[in-house]
Amino acid sequence: MKKETASGKLFVVATPIGNFEDITYRAVRTLQEVDFIICEDTRVSGNLLAHYEIKNKLISFNAKSEGKKIESVINELLSGKSCALISDAGTPTISDPGVRLVNRALKESITVHGIPGANAAILALSISGIPTDSFLFEGFLPQKKGRQKKLKELAEENRTIVLYESPYRIEKLLNEMSDYFPERFVAISRELTKKFEEVIRGYPGELVDKIDELKIKGEFVIVVAPKDWKQ
Ligand code: SAM
Repeated sequence: MKKETASGKLFVVATPIGNFEDITYRAVRTLQEVDFIICEDTRVSGNLLAHYEIKNKLISFNAKSEGKKIESVINELLSGKSCALISDAGTPTISDPGVRLVNRALKESITVHGIPGANAAILALSISGIPTDSFLFEGFLPQKKGRQKKLKELAEENRTIVLYESPYRIEKLLNEMSDYFPERFVAISRELTKKFEEVIRGYPGELVDKIDELKIKGEFVIVVAPKDWKQ
C-alpha cells in the first residue's frame, strides 16, 4: 500500500456528503497525521473530526478568506509543515473553495496529493440511469446576472448536464427547465447518502407537477439527459 510522508505537502481530502461511513481509511489517517487542517466552517468540520476521534488543528479557509489566508498556508507548507484541505462536504474545490490554493502550491513546487471520496455530482450521475459517457458539469447556475443566457446555452448543449441547486431555488429551476428544455429527461437526486435520499425522474413539466410531493428540503443534484436521448 502506498504511504506518503506528509512533510511539506498539501492533501486535498474528500469527506462525506451526509453519511459519515463514506470516508476512506487513507483520508482518516491523513487527517490525523497532517500538522493542520484548513476547512470552510470549523464547527462543521469539528463535528466530522469528533466522529472519527481525530484531534487536530482546524483553521477556517472559506471563499471570503481564501485570498487573505493563502500566503500564510503556503509559508507553512514551504517551512515543511503538512496541511489537509477539506470542505463542508464532498470533494474540495468542486463548487467549493481551494482552487487558488492548489494552483499556488503547484506554482511553488509543493506536492499536492488528492485523497478521493464522495462527490455529489458523480454519485447522482451514477444512479441517474442517464448516459454518463460524456457530460458537462455546470455546478450552480448564476443566481441573477447571466442566468437566462446560461439556460439558453444549456438548451443547445448536446451532452448530459449536471447542476447543483439549493432548496431555495429548486422550484424556480424546475420551472425554468420546463420553459427552456421541456423535452429533456431529468433525474433529481435529493439528500444523497442521507436518511431521506431519493431520486425523482421525469420530464421537467411532470416534475413541476410533482413539486409538492418533492419535499423542498435538502440538497439537490440535477442530471439532464442528452438532447437527443429519450427515456
Ligand atoms: N464539494 C461538494 C461535492 O463534492 O459534491 C459540493 C459542494 S457545493 C457547495 C454543495 C452542493 O452540492 C449542494 O447545494 C447540492 O447541490 C450538492 N450536494 C452536496 N451534498 C449533497 C447531497 N447529500 N445530496 C444531494 N446534493 C448534494
